[in-house]
Amino acid sequence: MKDFKRYLVTAALPYANGPLHIGHMAGVYIPADIYVRYKRARKEDIKFVCGSDEHGVPITIRAMKEGVSPQQIVDKYHGIIKDSFEQMGISFDIYSRTSNKVHHETAAAFFKKMYDDGLFEEKETEQFYDEKAKTFLADRYIVGTCPVCGNENAYGDQCEKCGSSLSPEQLINPRSTLSDAVPVKRKTKHWYFPLNNYEGWLNEWLVEGHVEWKNNVYGQCKSWLDNGLQPRAMTRDSSWGVKVPLPDAEGKVLYVWFDAPIGYISATKELTNDWADYWCKEDTRLIHFIGKDNIVFHCIIFPSMLKAHGGFVLPDNVPANEFLNLEGDKVSTSRNWAVWVHEYLKDFPGCEDVLRYVLAANMPETKDNDFTWKDFQDRNNSELVSIFGNFVNRTFVLMHKLCNGKVPKLHEDVLDDIDRNLIKEIENAKSKVENSLEEFKFREALFEVIDLSRKGNKYLQEKEPWKKASSDKLQATSEENQKLVDNCLHLSLQLTANLAILINPFLPFTAKKMLHLMKVVDKMFDWDNAGKIKLLSVGYSLRAPELLFRKIEDAEISVQVEKLKANSLKPQGTSDTKQDKTIKMEENKSEIRNLKSEIVYDDFAKLDLRVGTILAAEKVEKADKLLKLEVDLGFEKRTIVSGIALHFKPEELINKQVVVVANLAPRKLKGIESNGMILSAEDANGKLHLINPENMINPGSSVS
Ligand SMILES: [Zn+2]
Repeated sequence: MKDFKRYLVTAALPYANGPLHIGHMAGVYIPADIYVRYKRARKEDIKFVCGSDEHGVPITIRAMKEGVSPQQIVDKYHGIIKDSFEQMGISFDIYSRTSNKVHHETAAAFFKKMYDDGLFEEKETEQFYDEKAKTFLADRYIVGTCPVCGNENAYGDQCEKCGSSLSPEQLINPRSTLSDAVPVKRKTKHWYFPLNNYEGWLNEWLVEGHVEWKNNVYGQCKSWLDNGLQPRAMTRDSSWGVKVPLPDAEGKVLYVWFDAPIGYISATKELTNDWADYWCKEDTRLIHFIGKDNIVFHCIIFPSMLKAHGGFVLPDNVPANEFLNLEGDKVSTSRNWAVWVHEYLKDFPGCEDVLRYVLAANMPETKDNDFTWKDFQDRNNSELVSIFGNFVNRTFVLMHKLCNGKVPKLHEDVLDDIDRNLIKEIENAKSKVENSLEEFKFREALFEVIDLSRKGNKYLQEKEPWKKASSDKLQATSEENQKLVDNCLHLSLQLTANLAILINPFLPFTAKKMLHLMKVVDKMFDWDNAGKIKLLSVGYSLRAPELLFRKIEDAEISVQVEKLKANSLKPQGTSDTKQDKTIKMEENKSEIRNLKSEIVYDDFAKLDLRVGTILAAEKVEKADKLLKLEVDLGFEKRTIVSGIALHFKPEELINKQVVVVANLAPRKLKGIESNGMILSAEDANGKLHLINPENMINPGSSVS
């Protein structure tokens, strides 16, 4: 391998039109962060850059549908994404965004240089245009009747019912999904990057030059090249994005896959004035961490752009991962079949490392892998708690009981084979973990660390230091026995210190806790310290034991499973997939138990709950979910607007009794002032049921 002086590590820019889910984390950000933390511990010169990808058609469409500006969409999700990364300990040196000025300038200049060098082909083509929405339409945004099966909602590129691959021209009665207008053809001019001109170079650089790349990556690249490359349009008709820096390019922006990878360069520029060292010097090692859906962009298109532009280093490796599925089915944003990182962080506070651990242990390195909540619980309880955490805890408990809370001496004269074997294991672990990490085999590396802690447990079990102390005084029964106890705890503590160093790239929060227990500073994390058994000085007093991990209970897991099922039942799209059906057939056995935080009685007593009788009910105009109710509270009649219209017909509510929050501040809904709130319960299928007294009673009766 080449002798590199510095590293530049990039992680795929997340698209700012939705939050992060665990598939993103396992595929890209956890492996990238482990690698970077490991290299930092080795004192390498390394920069870790990322940012939000904030351009492209889906963002403008989402903005149009929600009636907000694209900037509002990206501001919202950039905030959520950035926050999730920070809380999960993803240690970017910079997390930027492509709507920043420096990025617009950098991407425009990159394009302009290629344009000036005559590297684009200008082509005029006809494309579908929505005259109502005043925008060109990507194929996905045209729907119509499938000529094959008659499905009325086939997309311009594919019919999802019969699977036929289509073009918009084939659709019967085509219409725009944006405005329902009939799309018309319009001429438009774009700049194409002739990728076919780079095939020869790509074969040499990639196919011959990077045989060491992961099989899944190398294979996909090779098949792209074998099929032949086509010129690809690098501009789009849109008002949202980096403006094409040419005089005759009004209403045109750079293609999002042209501008997004340049975001890595812009982010490095924002990070350091020495950015050119990382992008232009041949002794920089550039590594892109991505998911498999981005392979062609990072291995073929972006390198060809860099090569065409000139002056930049090329990626030395692109260790892309496959996909992480969820409970046996593909993660789907539209069906809400996902575990969202920001929700996990709320549901499992303090368990950031547990998710990092489970995602690293199940990382889809060579093929798609599966996340299940049961496996999450098992790995936490039987690996983190019972193996790693247990070893560290036993060591600290015994050290406090048998060695006065201080690091005991190592007595060379009574070292035996079991001790020597453990020392060898500690020494070997370093190179095992290191070799795996250098080859981007993160699961293997993590397994080695856990395995070392397993060996620690076995060592304690064989040594049984507690038997060498008399049970009542907890003191060694003889000088010889004290020496044996000392050696055992000395080595167990040195092993603990080693585990902190080795686990640090994977579980940084846990490693920090271990440093705290050992009362040592961050400097101990230096990778050079790994494999050594003199990390903690003899006589040094350490803190009292604290548990590193907590057990995760069955109830917490069933809450998550039920939540996932309930989410996916809410109508998000039209498709009724296999997964949806199996869930509907399953019984909801356990209750959803998402308890709010505790309140005191006085908080409850502030509520004025009354029984009311519904006198009249009608639908609220232009609001599908709202009903306007007249409710008799005995002492007065109230107008209450309630979001129950999807569950009850107005006429079936007349004379029904309900429980009303009578002292809720009035608020306006669709222009009607609502004076109170009606209580109802939601069952597992999302259906609402009114809460009422079991017999008719006087309206106005108080409820407590
Ligand atoms: Zn069809």
